[in-house]
Amino acid sequence: ARETPQQIWFDGRFVDAGSDRAPLTTHAMHYGSGVFEGIRAYATTDGGSAVFRLPEHLERMRKGCELLGIPFDVEEATAATLAVLRRNGHRDAYVRPLAWCGTGSIGLDVAPLDKHLMVATFPTNVHLSGAKVKLGTSSWRRNPATSLPPLKLCGAYVNSILAKHEAKQRGFNEALFVDDQGRVVECTGANVFMVRDGGITAVEHRDALAGITRDTVIALTGAESRAVRHDELLDADEVFVVGTAAEVTPVDEFDDRSYAANHVGQEIAQLYWRVVRGEEARYTRWLTRV
Ligand code: PMP
Repeated sequence: ARETPQQIWFDGRFVDAGSDRAPLTTHAMHYGSGVFEGIRAYATTDGGSAVFRLPEHLERMRKGCELLGIPFDVEEATAATLAVLRRNGHRDAYVRPLAWCGTGSIGLDVAPLDKHLMVATFPTNVHLSGAKVKLGTSSWRRNPATSLPPLKLCGAYVNSILAKHEAKQRGFNEALFVDDQGRVVECTGANVFMVRDGGITAVEHRDALAGITRDTVIALTGAESRAVRHDELLDADEVFVVGTAAEVTPVDEFDDRSYAANHVGQEIAQLYWRVVRGEEARYTRWLTRV
């Protein structure tokens, strides 16, 4: 039997992935004038699946679109997300909505441009890769919030790409952004936590994305949220990073340091695993059934 091609929701219809082409004059391709999200759906024990914290993700996307002058209808995006998940039959999936400025002008004013929305889904491998997380402090600074607000604006991610590229070249696999005062900001696509003497701290910084996983982990653990210095992070008993894609991932090595055990991080990772799959009755309000 031939596999049904993967489909993408695009401006109100379904198209086969790879069948549609954006024009070469697409504004977003030249200037990064788009807004995206990263969302996960998880198979639930009742045989169905559910999207984790969908309204929060789409609200963040709406804010980015508002800032950039892209019309965004949360209800339409919600329906599109659920429809494409059903269409593709993915129960464990990464969901990628993208709103962007299309064609109409090559100037910087976005008003004359046509605007588009797509939602793609990618099946996710639920098994851990087993690769060690090696976190290295970046020489790059995070986009300051005063220049680029911490939202998921496409162009802003060139900053993350630079940091990731440098980290890989140095033998790390993830980068940590630190500011000019030596305060920890975040990773390229995840927020940072530390554990010290049993206390859990969520790193707080105005240049960091207000992560939904970060908010989730604070709600689950009662972690304090405050500014953290780079040397404090190096001294921590454990460090873990959190994000929709990363989930809760303990850090094995950080700069010159390695961590023997990550008991607290692993426990939180397991709790998060149950919460996103609807196995914790207290938190099923965070799930949108597909
Ligand atoms: N920081 C950055 C820069 C990110 O791109 C992400 C991923 N969206 C996060 C943090 C984590 O955010 P969330 O938990 O909402 O996925």
